[in-house]
Amino acid sequence: MENKLMIYNTLSRKKEVFEPLHAPNVGLYVCGPTVYGDAHLGHARPAITFDVLFRYLQTLGYKVRYVRNITDVGHLEHDADAGEDKIAKKARLEQLEPMEVVQHYTLRYHKAMEALNVLPPSIEPHASGHIIEQIQLVEEILKNGYAYVSEGSVYFDVAKYDKDHNYGVLSGRNLDDVLNTTRELDGQHEKRNPADFALWKCAQPEHIMRWPSPWSDGFPGWHCECTAMGRKYLGEQFDIHGGGMDLIFPHHECEIAQGVASMGKPVVKYWMHNNMITINGQKMGKSYNNFINLSEFFSGSHPLLSQPYSPMTIRFFILQAHYRSTVDFGNEALQAAEKGLQRLMDAWNTLGSLAAGDATTVDVAGLRAKCFDAMNDDMNTAQVISHLFDASRAINQIADKKATITADDLADLKETFRLFTFDILGLKEERGSDSEREAAFGKVVDMLLEQRQAAKAVKDWATSDKIRNELAALGFEIKDGKDGATWKLNR
Ligand code: ZN
Repeated sequence: MENKLMIYNTLSRKKEVFEPLHAPNVGLYVCGPTVYGDAHLGHARPAITFDVLFRYLQTLGYKVRYVRNITDVGHLEHDADAGEDKIAKKARLEQLEPMEVVQHYTLRYHKAMEALNVLPPSIEPHASGHIIEQIQLVEEILKNGYAYVSEGSVYFDVAKYDKDHNYGVLSGRNLDDVLNTTRELDGQHEKRNPADFALWKCAQPEHIMRWPSPWSDGFPGWHCECTAMGRKYLGEQFDIHGGGMDLIFPHHECEIAQGVASMGKPVVKYWMHNNMITINGQKMGKSYNNFINLSEFFSGSHPLLSQPYSPMTIRFFILQAHYRSTVDFGNEALQAAEKGLQRLMDAWNTLGSLAAGDATTVDVAGLRAKCFDAMNDDMNTAQVISHLFDASRAINQIADKKATITADDLADLKETFRLFTFDILGLKEERGSDSEREAAFGKVVDMLLEQRQAAKAVKDWATSDKIRNELAALGFEIKDGKDGATWKLNR
């Protein structure tokens, strides 16, 4: 048991020793983004959580095939206006080809993930590129008697499935619960039972994303894509399926049912779910006006933010909590994370300049063992970070000559610190190149001038003069023009 990775399996509701089906190969599937808008904080947490898992499994010597899909067919959601496909709606509003919308937001998502130092997955399949596989899946479920055709659409027969198997194994909901919480939605009259979910939807005439199928011109139900693509790239049974807790029901519950209904046995061995993010104690949502895009975090341009937060601050902040705990974003907590991360990076830089002594008064082997134990305990990154803080204190003590370390132990300490901080937690130093720094510098001056402009607009001359004078003291020459102020730096 010792030094074995334990992960919490949502299916069994307990921690289990991780034993891959085909060691050393590991199949990992994570539900990716729906690309109809900018990546926001809600995208960052699953991406970072499973990025750390991907990194850690590789550290343990596994060969991981990590599949994270792009949902680009669009799917019907309870809050979608009149049930219109979100990507199609965006395309209609912006007069774009749907694939232009997909391309645009996929690139932006990739950029945000790169900034967060999230490694690209091994395969990133698009739902729209796997319509044939999804149609095959629906045909199998129909053939096995767990689906029916109704007015060109195909629905999963939940009651029939529940009789033979057990619907609700993942979420713990039984069929009655589901019936009681199912709202009247578009297409409800076509279903035998309100709990039934669509495997294929016949497209309305105005629906622009559509494909031919044996039943109608239409599009697959959302849950089909992950079942079809997971199977295509990871096989009929694979190790880990992950995603946010909000996907447990209905998405993952339906995936389990589709897998059993088509292939006769459960597809996934371990189900892992990260908890959600709140902002100032509130759920994130359009109606709360607290949907903060990642780019707004990086630039500090959202009204709820008192300053910009770097991608590594966001990453560090998320990892300071266990992935199954909630995380609450607020300015104070983020500022504390920013300082914590800086302390870690300072310790790393100090570590590079330490001189070795004759004896070691720091428990280097113990630190390494404790960090592995924490990761093995269901990926407790919060615990790893606290051990790294202990290590940082020890490093500062050695620098202050209050502790000593031999050359061999110093090399081990560097290796352990590097392995956990950079390779496994995926943090990185953010000092950036000269040109990056200069660009950031310029943006800050621009922001100050915008503030000065705003102060002038409300005749707050004191603030306006203060900003001008302080910039002048630093060597900035400010010129007021018709379109606002410009600046140059007199070196
Ligand atoms: Zn999915």
